[in-house]
Amino acid sequence: MKKNRIQLQEGLSLNKFIATYGTEQQCEVALEKSRWPEGFRCPKCNSERHSCHRRNNVLIFQCSNCRKQVSLTEGTIFHSTKLTLVQWFQAMFFLTQNKNNVSTLELKRHIGVGYSAAWRLKHKLMQVMYERETTTILSGRVEIDDAYLGGANPGGKAGRGSENKVPFIAAIQTNSKHNPIYAVFSQVKNFSLDEVSSWAKRSLAPGTEVVSDGLHCFAAVADAGCNHQREVVGKGRKSTDMECFTWVNTILGNLKTAINGTYHAFDFEKYAHRYLGEYQYRFNRRFDLASMFPRLVYAAAHTGCRPESWLRLAVD
Ligand SMILES: [Zn+2]
Repeated sequence: MKKNRIQLQEGLSLNKFIATYGTEQQCEVALEKSRWPEGFRCPKCNSERHSCHRRNNVLIFQCSNCRKQVSLTEGTIFHSTKLTLVQWFQAMFFLTQNKNNVSTLELKRHIGVGYSAAWRLKHKLMQVMYERETTTILSGRVEIDDAYLGGANPGGKAGRGSENKVPFIAAIQTNSKHNPIYAVFSQVKNFSLDEVSSWAKRSLAPGTEVVSDGLHCFAAVADAGCNHQREVVGKGRKSTDMECFTWVNTILGNLKTAINGTYHAFDFEKYAHRYLGEYQYRFNRRFDLASMFPRLVYAAAHTGCRPESWLRLAVD
């Protein structure tokens, strides 16, 4: 697919968004449909029969069979939220329809909430995107490279092995016309054979043709049943000049601009997997901007409660 077809697609306009999700009731209906696409099911006895009422303005579903009560947001990413669904939906709109990443500060201004609430909103939604992407598996022809996030560290060494940077693997699947289709960006502990081996088993289908530079650890993709094409860089042969790395170089450049330009470096070490997950989520759905919004609502309704204390532990 050509780049301009991606850039020129209509997406979800602000007008259409307001007309469709402008009121709390509209958002409730949309969330109910996403949570129970086949209609309400009691989480305890699986009965369909139920009644609805409000308690402190919260929509409650009560099972007519076993009397179990469940609120619309209970057990989802919206669990116990003090924000309105309209505010959550607005945040999801900005996070999916913007070309660039949206920072906590921007979200705070757009939605009109305090900084802490905006932080929770942003990190919960990034967590939804990250979890949704953990099952993405690349196949066919895949360009891979080692990369780092952060790096505002004047005393550190340049390039590979720099201190205070978060190492990650960038992998881009291309099609027969050599256009990029899907991407995986995974935080790793280091670039060792063991790390690359377990990453490849999680992220690559057996039989994948992997193209990498000469970095030794990439040989471990063979553990996942992949074929490895090693292109040695150096002595007047830079990876940026080599056609076989066009896409991984280009997309890595865009990712670093988007992430380094939006977020503070001190957050990278702790939450890198989530920032990478957010970027990956949008990249892998960029062919259909308009459906990205309802798909994120669905994913949010099917991701469990992720409290702030848990989010701040930041363990992958
Ligand atoms: Zn029941």
